[in-house]
Amino acid sequence: MRKLAAGNWKMNGTAADLVQVQALITAHPAPGCDVLLCPPVSLLSRMADLAAGSAVQVGGQDCHPQGSGAHTGDISAQMLLDAGAHHVILGHSERRADHGETDALVRAKAQAALAAGLCAIVCVGELESQRDAGQTLAVIGAQLAASLPDAVPDAANLVIAYEPVWAIGTGRTPTLTEVGEVHAFIRAAIIARYGEAAQAMRLLYGGSVKPSNAAEIFAVPHVDGALVGGASLTAADFGAIVAAL
Ligand code: PGA
Repeated sequence: MRKLAAGNWKMNGTAADLVQVQALITAHPAPGCDVLLCPPVSLLSRMADLAAGSAVQVGGQDCHPQGSGAHTGDISAQMLLDAGAHHVILGHSERRADHGETDALVRAKAQAALAAGLCAIVCVGELESQRDAGQTLAVIGAQLAASLPDAVPDAANLVIAYEPVWAIGTGRTPTLTEVGEVHAFIRAAIIARYGEAAQAMRLLYGGSVKPSNAAEIFAVPHVDGALVGGASLTAADFGAIVAAL
């Protein structure tokens, strides 16, 4: 399957930073993987316009489970689509921590995203204390069971990102063996849930992916790409990760 390099700009970037997107497009006109950037919503439509006709797709970082209504400050999946998004990141650990998002809410958002025609990137990951206690697979299994949508008509529209919380923005990563163990576990869990079609769902690793470690992480079985935070902000770093895929 074609791998996916997904960048999550988080709460970073203003119009001036769109030069990085132009530089990425110029440097990688025909990348060997799918390329996605998820800017803050303030930049979404401008980035989509800039990337139109290029290999770069854009996505949102969150959406509300409902399509419209009295939800001040929120954005719906339909609105993301209207702004030019193809994807939306859901259940990122920062949203789970900062906004108290539960697995049930993440599932509702994922179902809304699929219904709107977006590709949902659902994030799971253990805390460091949970890994130290040997609970990693149990935690991931519970998050998958409760966060994933009930039905996925098109396997290409569900992506799962494994992001150990302790590896995000820290420069620390699990060993390649540990990454492989969790990704194989996730693959088995989604096949049990959705059937053989789940072989085609992409599983991303996220957490301190950078140019220097991207190639070795991408060589791990069942790693179908990466969700990249800090290193997605510049064309130089993200371009190097795209090239590693
Ligand atoms: P990082 O963030 O690459 O800066 O560690 C990853 C993420 O949160 O998706």
